Amino acid sequence: MTALRFSGPVLPDGEVRDLYVLDGRVTYERPSGAETGASGWIVPGLVDAHCHIGLGPDGAVDEETAEAQALADRDAGALLLRDAGSAADTRWVQTREDLPRLIRAGRHIGRTKRYMRNYADEVEPEGLVEAVERQARSGDGWVKLVGDWIDRAEGDLKPSFPAESFAEAIKVAHDNDARVTAHCFGHEVLPGLIEAGIDCIEHGTGLTPDLVEAMAEQGTALVPTVAQLEIFPGLAAAAEPKFPTYAATMEDLYARRRETIMSAYEAGVALYAGSDGAGDQLHGVLPTEVLAMHELGLPADVVLGAASWRGREWLGWNPGLAEGDPADFVVYDTNPLEDLTVLGRPAAVVLRGKVYA
Ligand SMILES: [Zn+2]
Repeated sequence: MTALRFSGPVLPDGEVRDLYVLDGRVTYERPSGAETGASGWIVPGLVDAHCHIGLGPDGAVDEETAEAQALADRDAGALLLRDAGSAADTRWVQTREDLPRLIRAGRHIGRTKRYMRNYADEVEPEGLVEAVERQARSGDGWVKLVGDWIDRAEGDLKPSFPAESFAEAIKVAHDNDARVTAHCFGHEVLPGLIEAGIDCIEHGTGLTPDLVEAMAEQGTALVPTVAQLEIFPGLAAAAEPKFPTYAATMEDLYARRRETIMSAYEAGVALYAGSDGAGDQLHGVLPTEVLAMHELGLPADVVLGAASWRGREWLGWNPGLAEGDPADFVVYDTNPLEDLTVLGRPAAVVLRGKVYA
């Protein structure tokens, strides 16, 4: 098999090296007859910590659509995906060498008729434990709970389940060797989840100073999906006529989003980058999320680390590109730490040693 040579600063440490790819792996020992791959800034494969493969606006999509989603993510450099809930069985993605590595959470677990239609494994509190066991079995070590959503009877954002049910769910997931994360927009659901030892919070717009301190202390991660939060004003406007209280809650969470996320960062909470494919473009938008996190005030090395080496380590993969590591990386013409917009223009995407783009 022909070896390929990539030259340039290898992040995170930035040491200038000749990196060779042979049999899908990284080596720094020059193989004979290596051909030139590309040169530039070499970044360990990007991580989208919150996306949904196989999911569309109305629920599960067909395999062709799911494949296009995964290819769009790959071509944007996202080579390791943490799927935060999908109504489709996407295990087949993991058999495809040309698609990103995928860590699935099974289906979202939500309260009956209290989440997006056709998305969740919907249960009442008494069925929650069984649903967690079911999704822990079908996923890859993660379970996704719908922490809160609009309660139309109450006219406001409300926890999907009582705090005691959530606590039991988290314990059962841990007993089944699964980590747990939850979709949380509002404040009310958060103290119970964090106290019960949840592993990660998605969105987290309802976090307060006491909660971010607790998260930092116990190592609870936050995937703030900053770009996705731009849908809040639209959700509020659409709901305003029938659910004015909910609309006001969403507007308030949106108005405070910067302060909330920066307080988590300042408290030392580990943040990761999740595109959560919002709007028209559902996939291939991780670079947009990285920029949105940076524009919020997070330093470039923090957001790039979140979307690359730190994210990889958090999900159990090689953080850097050491001898023998899987050859998953992205090459850029300029230093992404000096200009994160270059993430939108990869010079080469290398997955399992094969070059794309
Ligand atoms: Zn999501």
